[in-house]
Amino acid sequence: MNTNRNYKNLQDSYLFATIGQKVKAYTATNPDKKIIRMGIGDVTLPLAPAVITAMQNAVAEMGVPETFRGYGEDYGYEFLRTAISEYYIKKGANISPSEVFVSDGAKCDVANILDIFAAGSTALIPDPVYPVYSDTNIMAGNKIIFTHGNEANGFLPMPDESINADIIYICSPNNPTGAVYNKEQLQKWVDYAISKDAIILYDSAYEAFIQDDLPTSIFQISGAEKCAIEIGSLSKTAGFTGTRCGYTIIPHTLERDGMSLHKMWSRRQSTKYNQLPYIIQRGAEAAFLPDGLAQNKKNIAYYLQNAKLMSETFDGLGIRYCGGKNAPYIWLKCPDGLKSWDFFDALLEKANVVGTPGAGFGSQGEGFFRLSAFGSKENTIEAMERVKNFLK
Ligand code: PLP
Repeated sequence: MNTNRNYKNLQDSYLFATIGQKVKAYTATNPDKKIIRMGIGDVTLPLAPAVITAMQNAVAEMGVPETFRGYGEDYGYEFLRTAISEYYIKKGANISPSEVFVSDGAKCDVANILDIFAAGSTALIPDPVYPVYSDTNIMAGNKIIFTHGNEANGFLPMPDESINADIIYICSPNNPTGAVYNKEQLQKWVDYAISKDAIILYDSAYEAFIQDDLPTSIFQISGAEKCAIEIGSLSKTAGFTGTRCGYTIIPHTLERDGMSLHKMWSRRQSTKYNQLPYIIQRGAEAAFLPDGLAQNKKNIAYYLQNAKLMSETFDGLGIRYCGGKNAPYIWLKCPDGLKSWDFFDALLEKANVVGTPGAGFGSQGEGFFRLSAFGSKENTIEAMERVKNFLK
């Protein structure tokens, strides 16, 4: 039998496993030390009360014959698609409910969307970035061209006319760097995609963290309806990393090769996917309604306050960093020219603080380090005190 030999081209994913092993080894020999974890980008605050109430009501509905529900609607319940569409309309992006496809998270959609592109397509992927983009393209046997983010471009690579691509990945705010594109920069990407007949896959998983006057959706950019797909997530916006809900927006106007991408994705989802539970979709709807939005805004403000504490610490130490203002990540330059893993070891041993080595997000991440603002305020304050003592 033949296997998908593209899997042979994948590098083993050692990043979080290696971090786990190093922390375990350190705590085994130093059991009295309190480790503060600022590595993995997972939320810590509980779900908003409005979300919990909506899910409890939905559970009760499932327990009586009049309101019990079996299989859901193929692309998500109309009430949730409408709530998401209204969220976009409020920010000036004219998205109809029928252009929204509900899913169990952005990771799956980012991966599965490749089903509607020809095998052997060329993908333009930023480096550093969320590693799922490159891994899924390797699995699909696609060609990958990396666009480098670095200090010179503020970790915001821009289009290069000499490069031809079919699929263009944009992650804004970026994981891991926290860098966010402005309107003019995104307009250049949209114009470039149209000129190359390419499709932008725009990952807006961290859009709710944007506080400045910067785009929170690619559909705020003129012409995006002719060249872009947006993938969103409630994971960081509403604390749904364990509850699960994401969505993909494909405009009806998006066509390539005489085919409607909206129709292709509709067909793909109705064939291969069977929607989220009704209970979760009611919880997700509540996250987009006024009470839920206000409660989640408070949670985001809490994380951003942590990010501010971290930024102030690195400002005081004179260490260069990116992010921390419109994103829950601080991307700092390792001091004294250290490599990412060497700085990881030093920080673990000297400050008992765990972060993520930048090299795990691509070749351009070497020499950089990601700290996450998703912990508690108390731990963030303590971690920053330790970092100050270690680096001053
Ligand atoms: N996109 C980016 C940039 C992410 O950082 C993450 C999660 O860390 C995801 C997507 C995945 O989101 P979800 O939890 O909705 O699958």
